[in-house]
Amino acid sequence: MKTTWNRRKFIIETSKAAAVITALPSFVKPYSQFFNQTPLPYSWNALEPFIDAATMEIHYTKHAAAYSANFKQAIEAEIKEVNKINYDHIFSNIERYSVKMRNNGGGHYNHELFWSIMKPGGAKEPQGELAKAITMYFGDVSKMKKMFTDAALQQFGSGWAWLIKTPNGGLSITSTPNQDNPLMSSAAKQGTPILGLDVWEHAYYLKYQNKRAAYIEQWWNVVNWNEVGERYNPSIA
Ligand code: MN
Repeated sequence: MKTTWNRRKFIIETSKAAAVITALPSFVKPYSQFFNQTPLPYSWNALEPFIDAATMEIHYTKHAAAYSANFKQAIEAEIKEVNKINYDHIFSNIERYSVKMRNNGGGHYNHELFWSIMKPGGAKEPQGELAKAITMYFGDVSKMKKMFTDAALQQFGSGWAWLIKTPNGGLSITSTPNQDNPLMSSAAKQGTPILGLDVWEHAYYLKYQNKRAAYIEQWWNVVNWNEVGERYNPSIA
């Protein structure tokens, strides 16, 4: 029937449009979506027993929500043409902006990445091109994990450990203090983060107290290797 066909066509066209929006790199997100938190794609308790529900809920609804809200304020105060905003411009010129922009822009970006690279029951190991690159640059997955874990342990105080795609397409490991990240012009080692671990105490203290090493070890169980692989080698460039 005509009505049915139209409805079906509408659904198909709508899902095509949704797919296009989803496929856009974060750099070209529309302004309205830029600073908002993406809804968490799993429940608070989905990552248990490795990350507990209370930590997830407080982390997402308090800490990350504050970065999101303060990032919006910084954007509105410091950027004239908000519809042309992109992370690349902000992070690659971070010295030109306020401390508020740096801490909250970084905080928002880092947490959005963090939620996406975790998943209950995802691929247990890196796949495809990412797996090949890890072998090429680190020898094997366990050596990469060891280097990453050392970077996370050695980050003094609050910060992040990162697996990054370097400008020449290679892989490297680094860490950053506070809410900085390797996209920032201030970073000692620059590249595109494809895996990041929050080692602020708010990310683990309720369950692990001062035992950061135990948190890191357990966290590997919830890494979403499919997403990390997609970030290394995007299927839509
Ligand atoms: Mn955090």
